Amino acid sequence: VLKGTGQGALPPMLEQYVTMRDEVAAQLPHALLLFQVGDFYETFGEDAERAARLLGIALTHKSSKDFSTPMAGIPLRALDGNVEKLLAAGVCVAVADQVEEPGTGLVDRKVTQLLTPGTVTEERHLGVDENYLAAVATGDGYALALLDVSTGEFRCAAFHTRLALYDELSRWRAREVLLAPELAGNAALLADFQARFPVMLSPANFGEDGCRSELDTALGEVPGTLATPALLRACGAVLGYARLTLQGQLGMVRRVVRFEPGAHMRLADAALRALEVFTPQSPQGVTLMDILCQTRTAGGRRRLRAWLRAPLLDELSIRARLDGVEALTRAADLRGGVRSLLYRAHDLERLAARVATRRATPREVAALARTLELLPEATRLLGEQIGLLGGVRARLSALPDVVTRIRAALVDDPPLRLGDGGLIRDGFHAELDEVRSASLSHRAWLAELEATERTRTGIGSLKVGYNSVFGYYLEVTGSHLGKVPPDYRQVATLKDRARFTRPDLREREREIARLDAAASRLETQVFTELRDSLAAHAEALSEAAGALAELDVLSALAELAVDCSWVRPQTVPHAEIALTQARHPVVERATGGKFVPNDAALDAGRFLLLLTGPNMAGKSTYLRTVAICALLHQIGSFVPADHAQMPVYDAIHTRIGASDDLAGGRSTFMVEMSELAAILHGATARSLIILDEVGRGTSTLDGLAIAQAALEHLHVTGAHTLFATHYFELTRLEAELPGLVNLHVAAEEDTREGGGSSLTFYHQVVPGAARHSYGVEVARLAGLPANVTSRAARLLTALNAGGDDRKLVRELATLDVSRLTPMQALELLHRWQREA
Ligand code: ADP
Repeated sequence: VLKGTGQGALPPMLEQYVTMRDEVAAQLPHALLLFQVGDFYETFGEDAERAARLLGIALTHKSSKDFSTPMAGIPLRALDGNVEKLLAAGVCVAVADQVEEPGTGLVDRKVTQLLTPGTVTEERHLGVDENYLAAVATGDGYALALLDVSTGEFRCAAFHTRLALYDELSRWRAREVLLAPELAGNAALLADFQARFPVMLSPANFGEDGCRSELDTALGEVPGTLATPALLRACGAVLGYARLTLQGQLGMVRRVVRFEPGAHMRLADAALRALEVFTPQSPQGVTLMDILCQTRTAGGRRRLRAWLRAPLLDELSIRARLDGVEALTRAADLRGGVRSLLYRAHDLERLAARVATRRATPREVAALARTLELLPEATRLLGEQIGLLGGVRARLSALPDVVTRIRAALVDDPPLRLGDGGLIRDGFHAELDEVRSASLSHRAWLAELEATERTRTGIGSLKVGYNSVFGYYLEVTGSHLGKVPPDYRQVATLKDRARFTRPDLREREREIARLDAAASRLETQVFTELRDSLAAHAEALSEAAGALAELDVLSALAELAVDCSWVRPQTVPHAEIALTQARHPVVERATGGKFVPNDAALDAGRFLLLLTGPNMAGKSTYLRTVAICALLHQIGSFVPADHAQMPVYDAIHTRIGASDDLAGGRSTFMVEMSELAAILHGATARSLIILDEVGRGTSTLDGLAIAQAALEHLHVTGAHTLFATHYFELTRLEAELPGLVNLHVAAEEDTREGGGSSLTFYHQVVPGAARHSYGVEVARLAGLPANVTSRAARLLTALNAGGDDRKLVRELATLDVSRLTPMQALELLHRWQREA
């Protein structure tokens, strides 16, 4: 551990460090131990080198006569910022504090905090969004457990296949994952996992007996829903790990919810990315979440994200949410009232979890009270409501009155920490009041001492002062020293004055210190009792928090619907989608008032839409508009259209754009094909499939062949498919595949004088195939040299006018000119010339 040492024995403090570091390493192998030495947290040896590198701090050496080791430290007060850096870098942190006043010998130290990315609970280390710790185990299928210790949310699910597990795991974006040994120990599986999920992997105990007892301890039983060993082990491992890092404080976990992966729409990470639900495709881009996020509370924001990650399949549940949103769109007063109230709410979910684990600070308890005070107003506003909103009201009003108790005990604006004192209200606790008033009367005596002594001694300039060496003293200047009464005892002599004390002064001082310590003890006791009594209501608090989050999302969706003129979609039982004047919410915002809405209709007679048109015409936007409307419908939101009728889709599959998975070492084409494979395997008659430019990553003819074969396959499944392509040749499939309909995005070419031409995009989707692929025009727009494009245009004309080489014509017709470099274009032209 301490490399670079000399021959001598370790100094005692470093002995202590090494022992402690070994203990930490046994639990969290890669954790960095921050070891308090006076005003610094130090690291030594290899860890010092690691810390210096990760934190950008200076590396020094701890040296004694015959011993030396690298050392790097941070000041105590810089702990939080540095912990954040380490967590962000995927490094766990153990903090060892001095737990006694330094004396002559070795100071006693203890590990007071273990911080890992997936189990932090302090607000300052958490983002507003959810923070999941996940565990994965196998055996009779696969199991996933997810725990957010900042809110107590704990869920699990079982899967038949590894891919289904991965699909689900990708929705949750856990910050830390625990892999059972059968996975972590298999090099191939581990490598595959790490390629898919670049996340911190931590070891945990997956032994079945141990897991059983973890569940028993945390939940009071092993829930019957954990029917397979894999589920039991995943859930137990997550709890065991959290208990370790939270040092036993697991009070926020009350139950585990087993969810059916099939109960939600399948929405792979690829689809979330393609639709830019949470992450934009360009760094400054806007996401769907950005548009939707009109929520007013952190809990609401997290709930909205959860809804987006897991859209519903159950028609009744969708309708219930839509009813809630609609009620709020209709009643502007209700909506306004609810939203202004939510604005004043603190993060109730996390506060409830902090109370449950008895970690809440005085200030957090006061914030809890301020938030709970809003609830009666909320229930009043929701008075008439039924359905989901009625349920919200019921859950908000079920909470017993804890505010009165908090208000009675706690001052309005309590200090940040418990030790700061002055947090309990006067009149709440008789003994505390007594102690405080005794302390106050001594202080009052001291405050008057100057005046009384001036009168008694006749020394008008006598002063009472205080310093840390003598405590309180009486100060008399030289000319008056003769008048000093006999009960004064001189403690210091300065140039022109002297300082005195009196036995009773000392006595008072000691008494004040004793009383203040007693008051602080009592305050701690009273506060702890208060917090414990709140912990007893943890369940109801978290119910209320959930209800508030739900209300926040429903009212946010309503606000958005009103602001942006969205419409309530009609859910239809059969596979039929009809959108009138649909808009892409993100592109619409970006284009200002210039967005061109489009209609979309798919049903049994036309379920495969083949969309052609020049690049930049709006094909991709059209595809995504339809997918986003389907997604919004199934989270229970209104949709950006004038009229909408939609079925419940079991999945939205997307394959959009070409992206290189450089980190994974797979070529564009390989990524494209494996995504396509997953889609073709998963598609059902109830799926919505969005394919944009499939087959781009390979040679033209290969690509065309693959695209056509994929279309034919999808035609058999009957899935609703929107297929945008630059393979103009595919449009002839309309004659062969019933249900396939050609559409194109309108664009117009103006031929200018002098042979040039320009292209106008109308972004309007209209029936029929595009006239041609406009490749040359787009190439010109893209800035290809004029001589090249005009030569290409001539070639194209010649070829179209009955050139006998069909292969060449086909190649040119399907060529994606916008993706050619000028050099490649020249080479092509050369080759064609040779071949012609
Ligand atoms: P394609 O897929 O055909 O290459 P995109 O869908 O990527 O085209 O659209 C290109 C650009 O055109 C978009 O970034 C947007 O600015 C604009 N656009 C697309 N559709 C519309 C529309 N319906 N109304 C207005 N502008 C649009």
